[in-house]
Amino acid sequence: MTLDLLATVDIAVIGAGLAGLSCARHLSNAGAKVAIFDKARGVGGRLATRRGSLACFDHGAQYFTARAPELVLAVADWQADGVVEQWQGRIRAFDGTHFAPVPSERRYVGVPGMSSLAQHLLGKLPFFAEHRLLELAWNGHDWRLKFEDGGRCHARWLVLALPAPQAAALLGMEHPLYAQVASVSMAPCWSVMLRCARPLPCEFDGCFVNAGLLSWVARDSSKPSRPRSEAWVLHASPVWSRQHVRESPEAVTVALLSAFARLANTRIEPPEVNAHRWLYAMADQPLQFGCLGLLDQHLVLAGDWLNGSRVEGAWLSGLRSAEWLLALSAKA
Ligand SMILES: Cc1cc2nc3c(=O)[nH]c(=O)nc-3n(C[C@H](O)[C@H](O)[C@H](O)COP(=O)(O)OP(=O)(O)OC[C@H]3O[C@@H](n4cnc5c(N)ncnc54)[C@H](O)[C@@H]3O)c2cc1C
Repeated sequence: MTLDLLATVDIAVIGAGLAGLSCARHLSNAGAKVAIFDKARGVGGRLATRRGSLACFDHGAQYFTARAPELVLAVADWQADGVVEQWQGRIRAFDGTHFAPVPSERRYVGVPGMSSLAQHLLGKLPFFAEHRLLELAWNGHDWRLKFEDGGRCHARWLVLALPAPQAAALLGMEHPLYAQVASVSMAPCWSVMLRCARPLPCEFDGCFVNAGLLSWVARDSSKPSRPRSEAWVLHASPVWSRQHVRESPEAVTVALLSAFARLANTRIEPPEVNAHRWLYAMADQPLQFGCLGLLDQHLVLAGDWLNGSRVEGAWLSGLRSAEWLLALSAKA
């Protein structure tokens, strides 16, 4: 979609991750007019799926849980729509010496990939891909937005659904919400995706690794509706990812593969392997506000960092920001 120069939109949602999409979907369902912008080519943000020639990898969020009653209801709808299924993988925890079972809970995944849920939430809502917001200014009546490609627009209401450091950089140090937003730091995460020629002899499909440089490994091919080729995703711990944030993908791949070979106690020579760095993977100490609004400026911030730093929190933050906006715009 292209943007008319100096177009005016009612509600601009910046960020098409789960928080932005949840907000936009709830607003649109209530009859509001929204336009969604993202710097990426597609939707989903950290709810991401990479499709290889023979395998499919969820290299961001692995699965999600649903505890809040609103999300439990939404998940039932998504299951009925065929975009979410329960993952029955065998999950373990490793403490450096022993593997132990973890408490069972319902773990949901998008099908055929995590990003399918984002596509589903977007539906036919207006979406401007490859629109990186560069500048924003409130003029007392509306927002002036300037994008990287030179596009501009006005928005009566603005939703910033971005990781905290990116939202803080856009708001600028003079903004009244800057200090609160900038106080939330986010850890990076290196993610390595590998397709193996044959199934690995592991007695788990997912493992929380609580020792060494790995934090999590998952057999993505054990998730429902995935290609059958043996596919794994490995995540480095926040501490290791921070220490190696500027490392080359090749060096990171070597380090994570060798740690995984030790964990799985097997030789691993994958024919296909890739690394991805998430610069803002998870908030170190997320806030629990739901969302953060500024009535005077018709502005609301949403994102996982405002609600627990997980998929569930991101979706709920989007919902809370939509509720906040609907309540206020009704009065304005
Ligand atoms: C490696 C990893 C593993 C994870 N595992 C799990 C898990 O197993 N379970 C779980 O529940 N959660 C997990 N999470 C967390 C989960 O992915 C996030 O909580 C959730 O997806 C965050 O959604 P969000 O909408 O708040 O942010 P994001 O998904 O980050 O969305 C923000 C969007 O803003 C866009 N953007 C940024 N700057 C601009 C700009 N200037 N202009 C326009 N667009 C911009 C980005 O492109 C992005 O699409 C994981 C995250 C990572 C990275």
